[in-house]
Amino acid sequence: MFGGMQDFELRVPRLIDHAEREHGGRELVTAWADGTIGRTNWAGIARDARKLAQALEKMGVKKGDRVATLAMNHHHHVVAFYGAIGMGGVIHTINPRLFDEQLVYIANHAEDQVLFYDKAFQPIVDRLKPHWTTIRHYVCFDDGAFEALLDGEDGDYRWVEGPEREPCMLCYTSGTTGNPKGVLYEHRSSIIHAMALIAPSCFDLAPTTVALPIVPMFHAAAWAMPFAGAMAGVKLIYAQVNDPVLLCRLMNDEKVTHSAGVPTVWLSMFQHMDATGIAPKYLKTITIGGSAAPRAMIERLMKMGIRVGHAWGMTETSPIGTIGAPPARWDEMSFEEKVDLVCKQGRVPFGVELRVVDDEGRPQPRDGASSGQLQVRGPWVIRQYFKDERGDCIDDDCWFDTGDVAVLHPCGTLQITDRAKDVIKSGGEWISSVELENAAVGCPGVAEAAAIGVRHPKWDERPLLLVVRKEGASLGEAVVRAHLANHVAKWWLPDEILFVDSLPHTATGKLLKTALREQYRDHVLASVAAEAQAAGAQV
Ligand code: ADP
Repeated sequence: MFGGMQDFELRVPRLIDHAEREHGGRELVTAWADGTIGRTNWAGIARDARKLAQALEKMGVKKGDRVATLAMNHHHHVVAFYGAIGMGGVIHTINPRLFDEQLVYIANHAEDQVLFYDKAFQPIVDRLKPHWTTIRHYVCFDDGAFEALLDGEDGDYRWVEGPEREPCMLCYTSGTTGNPKGVLYEHRSSIIHAMALIAPSCFDLAPTTVALPIVPMFHAAAWAMPFAGAMAGVKLIYAQVNDPVLLCRLMNDEKVTHSAGVPTVWLSMFQHMDATGIAPKYLKTITIGGSAAPRAMIERLMKMGIRVGHAWGMTETSPIGTIGAPPARWDEMSFEEKVDLVCKQGRVPFGVELRVVDDEGRPQPRDGASSGQLQVRGPWVIRQYFKDERGDCIDDDCWFDTGDVAVLHPCGTLQITDRAKDVIKSGGEWISSVELENAAVGCPGVAEAAAIGVRHPKWDERPLLLVVRKEGASLGEAVVRAHLANHVAKWWLPDEILFVDSLPHTATGKLLKTALREQYRDHVLASVAAEAQAAGAQV
């Protein structure tokens, strides 16, 4: 018999109602770019979101329309999330670090109606306005215009209702190949994803939590922090500028217990800590994801007594797919064993299912050795890209191909070995570029490293390693090579190691390997030819 329980559509506005009612006084704090600190709380966010919903309706925004943001992290951005979604719209967070061409493509493809933006991005707005064909209203978040807009409303507003499968948020993947693709999140998927995240074995969020998400609100739905934070009654701290000095100060001033960001963020925090001797004192839990966290980074954070949740996910998975949490036998494990485990990408929460398949699509055993393509399915995993006429991007059993190469261990722990397109294929065998990079970053004096496959006459591809030295370090190739020899198989050792001043990154802070491959594709080929010529000349 059906009907024993109530109809209760899982819609995002219920989150802000809950936060207002149950955690209304819990604060949201913003360190603005001009150096001032702004404070509000969940009740204030709810009030302002209702006013914004009214204002958006007056602008002519209709149910289902996209409302875009081009902004860093701050509480006005959170108001925009709840205001746009609350009036039935779809919040579309645009990554300001994308190239102009992509910014134009994305906003036009999304058919954005309104754009809220940070003053710092005024030059982008001025430049691209003539090319954005659908945006009718522009409102700056931090020059007084946003507050003025809210001041014009009384906040007497009821959220738009509807089915839980309606869309609420749109995020584009950064599109290192081809045009960016839109992933459309739904109310229901966003709520159950947030529910999974707040659990102790995931982000571990509670009313006692003070969280400073460094991950930008335009990166993969801000790892759901605006939703999960409201659900758990978290105190949220935001910095409009990602500067390690400011972040570290905020962490100590506001007694931040939780933080989340991509690995490069922690690298710059370490540099600040080393230079000043100042470290965050209250941090208990850090979530690292977006790309593989190097072992040296994990070890250092764990030595500081911080629990590291190494997470894997992608825009297509809302984004959390897996995260590392202490297993049952954690207390019996040695420090080394613990670090080994945290270096892997963790396990799925309820809701996500994973499998690894070979090139013929045959599922592989979870034996910690069989490597293959990682596939994923679940209620917060993509079915179809936004406005993609090719239709669904999953197979008949709902499996989505992630493009990652992975191994599953018997305990269910995921180990990402590489992105399919970054794997170095040497003589038919695979070399993990990620493992090479992580080994290199463990070498004292190395700030960052990128391993790419370059053309080779005999082996098809061989690894080339590009290294950025730490400031003041003067290490040479021999030191890096000796260090690597202790950490990877001999045939994995790079054919050449080059020192560079900096490495290119994608808009979400990942190494831009397509550009590197283009630049260095024939580098080893040229050296081999030169050697052969020299050898010929000697004879
Ligand atoms: P984009 O591809 O647009 O930069 P995503 O954030 O969606 O944005 O990227 C998802 C990809 O990032 C994954 O498919 C995977 O290759 C990589 N990734 C994410 N987290 C990890 C991790 N913890 N370890 C290794 N790779 C990761």
